[in-house]
Amino acid sequence: MKYKLVLFDIDGTLIFSGYAGSNALKRTFEKFYGIKEPLKGIRPDGMTDPDIIREIFRKNLKREPDEKEMEKILKEYIENLKETVWNKDYKVFEGVRELLTCLKKNKKFLIGLATGNIYEGAKIKLLPSNLWNFFEIGGFASDSSNREEILIIAKKRADEYVKNKGEIEKVIVIGDTPLDIIAAKKAGFISIAVATGNFTKEQLEIYKPFYIFEDFKDYKKIFSFLIEI
Ligand SMILES: [Mg+2]
Repeated sequence: MKYKLVLFDIDGTLIFSGYAGSNALKRTFEKFYGIKEPLKGIRPDGMTDPDIIREIFRKNLKREPDEKEMEKILKEYIENLKETVWNKDYKVFEGVRELLTCLKKNKKFLIGLATGNIYEGAKIKLLPSNLWNFFEIGGFASDSSNREEILIIAKKRADEYVKNKGEIEKVIVIGDTPLDIIAAKKAGFISIAVATGNFTKEQLEIYKPFYIFEDFKDYKKIFSFLIEI
């Protein structure tokens, strides 16, 4: 059996979290360092959690966090995220659940996550929408703070997952930011961009993904497209 692995980014691709992540980081940095607007001047889209934290340190404290601080911040961040994720603006993008359902029903596909969120954060962010159980495997920022490595780790887990039944023939990476496209291309995977996040189709086109969709509304068309490629 030959499988197609489809790896989904979370924020801006599957869901809009209502700034749950940013707000959880704000609470964390206010508590530990008294910094009220830690993300000022930082565009976190597509960045991994540890990279965002490092950038906050550079901008606000003019230094790098040490390992212990990173651990402490991520722990507090997760506690805060458990609260901030439950907000009225949280939403699953139209067509996402339907597309995932189509993919899940088709035996040729294996669906996974490839996200800049650490494992715990990813799980919490998908709680209000109940999307977590769609995904068989994943690569997270707790595996690596480098997006390309996250993709490669997700692929390795998928190889392991299917090893008695067949092999992964193709890897398709779906994300909403230039960083998703760049990482997918570096890893040698097929990059599909979706303009549901903070980047327009035109802005994403510059990075030359294999294909761009405006959104997942026409999930049947996207599902057919994924079968074809
Ligand atoms: Mg994203």
